[in-house]
Amino acid sequence: MLSRLPSVFGRNRVAVQARQMSFELTDTQKDIQAAALQFSKEVLLPNAVKYDKSGEFPWDIVRQAHQLGFMNPIIPEKYGGPGMNGLNTCLIVEALAYGCTGIQLAIVGPSLAVAPVYLSGTEEQKKKYLGMMAAEPIIASYAVTEPGAGSDVNGVKTKAVKKGDEYVINGSKAWITGGGHAKWFFVLARTDDDPKTPAGKAFTGFIVDGDTPGIIRGKKEENMGQKCSDTRAITFEDVRVPKENILGEVGAGFKVAMGAFDLTRPQVAAGAVGLAWRCLDESLKYSLERTTFGTPIANHQAIQFMLADMAINLELSRLFTYKAAAESDAGGLVSYYASIAKCFASDTANDAATNACQIFGGAGFNCDYPVEKLMRDAKIYQIYEGTSQIQRVVIARHMLSNFSRNKTSKMG
Ligand SMILES: Cc1cc2nc3c(=O)[nH]c(=O)nc-3n(C[C@H](O)[C@H](O)[C@H](O)COP(=O)(O)OP(=O)(O)OC[C@H]3O[C@@H](n4cnc5c(N)ncnc54)[C@H](O)[C@@H]3O)c2cc1C
Repeated sequence: MLSRLPSVFGRNRVAVQARQMSFELTDTQKDIQAAALQFSKEVLLPNAVKYDKSGEFPWDIVRQAHQLGFMNPIIPEKYGGPGMNGLNTCLIVEALAYGCTGIQLAIVGPSLAVAPVYLSGTEEQKKKYLGMMAAEPIIASYAVTEPGAGSDVNGVKTKAVKKGDEYVINGSKAWITGGGHAKWFFVLARTDDDPKTPAGKAFTGFIVDGDTPGIIRGKKEENMGQKCSDTRAITFEDVRVPKENILGEVGAGFKVAMGAFDLTRPQVAAGAVGLAWRCLDESLKYSLERTTFGTPIANHQAIQFMLADMAINLELSRLFTYKAAAESDAGGLVSYYASIAKCFASDTANDAATNACQIFGGAGFNCDYPVEKLMRDAKIYQIYEGTSQIQRVVIARHMLSNFSRNKTSKMG
């Protein structure tokens, strides 16, 4: 019998003691983690291979996750959601990622579209769009990247032109998670034609209903890993959107789109932590079972050092991911910590997967064993929601600006 996500009403509310220095999870947080881990081990993990091979969207598990409260946990109670803070959300994502990061992405991917509405939406927009996500297991997508603009968001060419009380959107988006199933999209479009207009004023964010005429959904992309997550190109041809669907102010779209990452990058880091955790558990199990030269390979120092490195970086990633989430809940120096967490946890997941494959020897390269999938699934963490290079750009920019003001590298 699976446990429903425990209620946090009246207890771990957003920002409550978010920055208090304690390394112990509260009893409620432990309950949240245990419920998510049980679901992950009993439902995601046994189905991981099936969905990795078929590439089908795991609707049955997504529906179950929604019923148990694991989908969009951040949606406030007043819109019908679980009202979790960022840290609790990270605990859930980490636990789900342990079972399968592909299925986990199908479940929590919509949070990237939810974030701009949560942060910048009007009361009506929140009621409508967050309310529908809380009520039903539906998918929403964040559509910013384009064939010619990924890291360089300022290069976005999709245009929205005002016609009376509507905006008409034209352009092509690429690599959109959940794009084939999205009931609505967050779309970033250029609303100022002047190429000299700074990014902070040139773009506007829109909520676009998925059934609006003119939306063309491309074929499902064939990716290296996280195969059951749905990734597509989405084209907008004369798509008419009412002005009520503008998110934030006209011209403020860049800030709206980038602001979402402060909320979601710790969650992506948590996904990478879950994957690294699984790599370590699989490696420990195998190294105690597999014997060479008359002894389990766990007794060879070379294997122990790999296991120790995996443990060191896993513990650090987990700690820093929780810190970044707590910082986001407290409204502190969010982008800096979120980028460190995302960058470090993503690199850790990739190192952990490489070490796991090495510890498994020939079996590490074989599709009948679990770790080759972990290696394929790990790579994307260094790419989506800002590549590891872009995270370093963000970190360096914050550090340099802080040093110029305070003559120290110490933040906060
Ligand atoms: C499976 C998947 C799912 C995705 N989901 C979504 C989604 O839901 N919504 C969405 O909008 N986008 C999504 N993306 C897009 C993703 O965010 C971009 O792929 C990513 O930001 C990188 O952009 P790019 O692919 O254009 O690479 P580029 O920006 O072309 O980068 C190429 C290389 O150059 C490096 N580079 C670029 N600029 C710099 C710089 N200034 N300094 C140093 N190095 C630099 C990059 O780090 C990278 O190594 C997804 C992508 C994938 C693969």
